[in-house]
Amino acid sequence: MDILFLGTGSAWRLPEYSCGCMICKKMNELDEERTRTSIQITTSRRILIDPGPDLLTHMNRYHMELPDLVLITHEHGDHCLGLDELLVFKRALKRNDWTPIPVYATEITWRIVEERFGYLIGSLVEKRLCQSGVTISVGDTEIIPFKTFHGPTAKGAVGYVIRQMNDDSVHCKSLIYTSDFAEIETVIPQMYGADVLVIQSHWLNEPVENRPFHMSLQTALSFVEKWKPTKEIFLVHISGGDQVLGDPQNNTVKKIQPKEPMKDPMSNAVYSVPLCQEDWDVLVKKISIDYSIPCRMTVPRDGDIFSI
Ligand SMILES: [Zn+2]
Ligand SMILES: [Zn+2]
Repeated sequence: MDILFLGTGSAWRLPEYSCGCMICKKMNELDEERTRTSIQITTSRRILIDPGPDLLTHMNRYHMELPDLVLITHEHGDHCLGLDELLVFKRALKRNDWTPIPVYATEITWRIVEERFGYLIGSLVEKRLCQSGVTISVGDTEIIPFKTFHGPTAKGAVGYVIRQMNDDSVHCKSLIYTSDFAEIETVIPQMYGADVLVIQSHWLNEPVENRPFHMSLQTALSFVEKWKPTKEIFLVHISGGDQVLGDPQNNTVKKIQPKEPMKDPMSNAVYSVPLCQEDWDVLVKKISIDYSIPCRMTVPRDGDIFSI
């Protein structure tokens, strides 16, 4: 199973347009960028999760090929607005050589996606409904959606467990993709002991009021503890929304006050909010030790590839 991180940022990309906060400034200085979070998983099938508004950029950067299927986690723009870009794959083929790409989402999510992209159904994409807890089998791959809570504007939100089965049909390589969420509504047995967990670290610290219904690294650790992934934890959907000590931009809408900032459990010192990739690398390594994380935990860069 190959995992390609197409994008690792939140809905507004990082650095954000016109933002002068310390995180955006530092990233601009270092020429760092996180496009909207999206991922490609390759088993015997090429699976694209969340074709967001940066899809064309991702296609160009990573020389992407036609996906065998697409999974949409929820209807927010940063997770589905790139659907139109897939049309170039059809345009490059002879008239009768095209088969619409199966696109999976829940019925509630499809209702919204169809209002915007209904004209693509039947010609570019094939509308496929998925249901929490019901397995989709494609070749050697099983995909199991699970219901998540991401607030009232994404009522059909799901994450996906993806399992690539071995020839014995018992053992597998497995990955949990949570996407945007604040709570898990349906836990499925396949979530325990997966090889890989891809989870939001929208903020480092859980905010006083989690209104956009996202996941902080601070809270994500409780899911790590419950599900016990065995090989890799990847933190994505990085937003730059944490307040940074001394940042004059801390009073902007983007910045959210922490409830009780994360601390080193031994010294009780509050962790510094990371500004750039190197800061994330150092901090996440330290948190992994301080909180006895059972496997490697990292913040991938856009374009990082991992194989399990
Ligand atoms: Zn999002
Ligand atoms: Zn969202």
